[in-house]
Amino acid sequence: MVHPIEQRPGAQQWVPERGGLRALRTAVADCRGCELWQDATQAVFSEGRSDARMMLVGEQPGDREDIAGEPFIGPAGRRLDDALEAAGLDRNRLYLTNAVKHFRFERRGPRRIHDKPAVGHIDACRPWLAAEIAAVAPEVIVAMGTTAARSVLGRNVRIGEARGTVLESSDASATPTVVTAHPSSLLRIPDHAARETAFRAFVDDLRLAAEVTAE
Ligand code: SF4
Repeated sequence: MVHPIEQRPGAQQWVPERGGLRALRTAVADCRGCELWQDATQAVFSEGRSDARMMLVGEQPGDREDIAGEPFIGPAGRRLDDALEAAGLDRNRLYLTNAVKHFRFERRGPRRIHDKPAVGHIDACRPWLAAEIAAVAPEVIVAMGTTAARSVLGRNVRIGEARGTVLESSDASATPTVVTAHPSSLLRIPDHAARETAFRAFVDDLRLAAEVTAE
């Protein structure tokens, strides 16, 4: 269904100015910045430390995350865990969040099939991510996938062209940002050798980000 633009006023009016992450986590449940709240189970905010030096940003919660209310617990989250371990990073020391806080999906019978957020959803939801960056003040951001890259950098990029260099987030903090693939994309590669190559490239991107923080 195409939703009229007036259903996407953007999240800014629901984002509290004070109270840090705790206030943000509470307030996001009431956000009506776009129409995605209507069909999702709940908003899925973030996981991790408020003093993390590295922030990882994904696309949106998946089916399992939507039900559980926690990010990165499905198959892509497990692949992310593998990559973090390979890069020598401890998930408990990081801050993990998504560019879009509500699950966008298509119903096919009893199944809910992931549907990529539109640019309008990414831009509507960006005030939450901007507030998280301001609250956590990470030394580096890893934008995983094109949706996260658009939200963090404020523009569309191709992963293949953007990865391998350190860019800057478009918010006032201009935080060093590494763009990489989304871990779910690694799961969709049918060929084993190509899948392993993509996994190693993902780990290399995490290592590049770790170098920025000297984690
Ligand atoms: S997806 Fe983001 S902007 Fe849209 S309702 Fe959810 S929290 Fe608000």
